[in-house]
Amino acid sequence: MIPGVRLVVLGKQGAGKGTQCVRLSHHYVVPHVSTGDMLRGEVKSRSAIGVRAQTLMDQGELIPDDMVMEMVGARLSERDTMGRGFVLDGCPRTTSQAEALEKILYPFGLDLVVDLQVPTALVMKRLASRRVCVDCGSNYSTAAPPMANWTCDVCGGEVIQREDDTEEAIGRRLDLYEAETAPLIAWYTERDLMVGINGTGSPDAVTRRVVGAIDSRRRRERAES
Ligand code: AMP
Repeated sequence: MIPGVRLVVLGKQGAGKGTQCVRLSHHYVVPHVSTGDMLRGEVKSRSAIGVRAQTLMDQGELIPDDMVMEMVGARLSERDTMGRGFVLDGCPRTTSQAEALEKILYPFGLDLVVDLQVPTALVMKRLASRRVCVDCGSNYSTAAPPMANWTCDVCGGEVIQREDDTEEAIGRRLDLYEAETAPLIAWYTERDLMVGINGTGSPDAVTRRVVGAIDSRRRRERAES
């Protein structure tokens, strides 16, 4: 394994992006940059961004592009992400965010964009049973809860159902995914950065597929250079 990668992970809500991004960030030794986690942090600390974002997030709506991209631009210009790279989770979500990201990253760009493909019926089922730690964002489910009393195994935080994991907000987020985020697949395909990965099966199997795709892309690039 070669450390360092500049990766975007796309996929419907509930496709397993959070779980895979944590694993990939450990594998490639790069920070996991999740816009959802950053925004939830802003809401929790009641910052100006958090106050503006909270209602939109609870309703499953998207936060305005400029607000999100300012936050992402600041994070991606820190020393760790500039030096080693990142696994970007939850961003871009619109074509205008993808354009802004291209400018932020110039002249380096991305290594690869992974689309985790999972049927909608399965993501609906996963989201309804999903539970998360309010402090560190670790994911659980009603079928695989933490060891003790909905207390996070990783950090001891409270494990709850997300405010936006209601049936209504889930429906809205999936609609927005189709309308705003799915077009990014064509956008990144045109730039020869896109790879679709089957996101069903065990988390280990999915990680193996993603790592295999990244490594084979690197081999191809080495052979071409
Ligand atoms: P997530 O944890 O990625 O599902 O994000 C939770 C919520 O945060 C989303 O439903 C949006 O309200 C907001 N959000 C996260 N990332 C973005 C983004 N890139 N653009 C706009 N809104 C976002």
